[in-house]
Amino acid sequence: MMLPYSRQSISEDDIELVCQTLRSEFLTTGPRVSQFEQRFAELVGAKYAVAVSSGTAALHLALLVAEIGSNDRVVTSPNTFLATANCVAYVGAIPDFADIDPVSYCLSPKRLADSWQPDTRGVIAVHYAGQTADMPAIAEVARKNNAVVIEDACHAIGGRFEHQGSCYPIGGHPWADISTFSFHSVKTITTGEGGMLVTNNPRYAEKARQLRSHGMVREEPSFSGLGLQQPTEFGPWYYEMQQLGFNYRLTDLQCALGLSQLNRINQFICRRREIVDQYNAAFSANPWLGIPRLRNPADRDLTSWHLYTLQIDFAALGSTRSQWMHRLKELGIGSQVLYIPVYLQPWYRQKYGYAEGKCAQAEAFYRNALSLPMFPDMSDSDVDTVIEAVTCLTESR
Ligand SMILES: *Cc1c(COP(=O)(O)O)cnc(C)c1O
Repeated sequence: MMLPYSRQSISEDDIELVCQTLRSEFLTTGPRVSQFEQRFAELVGAKYAVAVSSGTAALHLALLVAEIGSNDRVVTSPNTFLATANCVAYVGAIPDFADIDPVSYCLSPKRLADSWQPDTRGVIAVHYAGQTADMPAIAEVARKNNAVVIEDACHAIGGRFEHQGSCYPIGGHPWADISTFSFHSVKTITTGEGGMLVTNNPRYAEKARQLRSHGMVREEPSFSGLGLQQPTEFGPWYYEMQQLGFNYRLTDLQCALGLSQLNRINQFICRRREIVDQYNAAFSANPWLGIPRLRNPADRDLTSWHLYTLQIDFAALGSTRSQWMHRLKELGIGSQVLYIPVYLQPWYRQKYGYAEGKCAQAEAFYRNALSLPMFPDMSDSDVDTVIEAVTCLTESR
């Protein structure tokens, strides 16, 4: 059996709750959607949570509710999944990139400040691997310039960070206007596909709720508010569309799974942290390997890890990453490279003229990055298998 770099953990309780929902009245939008939203908002300490069909949908809605559009620029980290930057292009704005911090592999506040343009109206910080971006410093740069701060927290569900002696939850701190999460099956908790938009701003939450379902409103008609003529007839059937929305709803079935997964999130986070500790203990003294380092050592017991990514000096080892991945695969160990700097993708090069050299740290990180298996159902012996294989590969040069 192959050890993948990540995999969901589904318990009998998870299955039972989904089955109960299948036998209930609701498959699509039912009571479990609002229950899941409420529990998630409590988890992250935010006022509002809006469940949507994916992390990508949450990012798209975040940009829409922040009213970012054409003629605007949004800066993000190049070391992220495509969706973080794609959502900027969805709304007609320019996705731009500032380099990463070499310790956290997250957006550098200093590089962000250097990259600032007159049309920059938003920042999307990404908590790579679960390691938190320096949100207070990023928000300081953004807010000085009246820009909105979005936190792509897909890697950091349930994580927290320390700042000036206090502890803040990802999604529930004062330095992001909107936070987005994904429940894709490789993430910390899963609903199959799914996502969440979280905010303390009631206007953002209300608008996101409308946009996830066609921009449709069933309450008070507001034609007069839009300066239009009132419809002649109202009634219990009445629905009204005030803005162009989507079908980004999450189903009751998926929210049932999400609710059940939330019961286990602390176990998931602790197990992932244990595996990170075991890997770090095994690899920290190896001169060919760079282990993930925390931006702030006080975050050690607060971090919710999504990935375990090593920096490997393939060149000094006289080897290549492809050879490593191939050898690991022969030993039943999956590995993955996360991420190719987004602006190096053909579409980005062609559309925006981006090229090599734009973010030197992100490119250097990418050259040596390899993510190893890390998920809660891994046994200690699975972890040992990976440690032995990786150690052996550094000794066989
Ligand atoms: C997974 C992920 C997304 C996209 O989430 P989906 O649910 O797959 O749409 C966005 N950003 C980051 C950093 C992710 O890891």
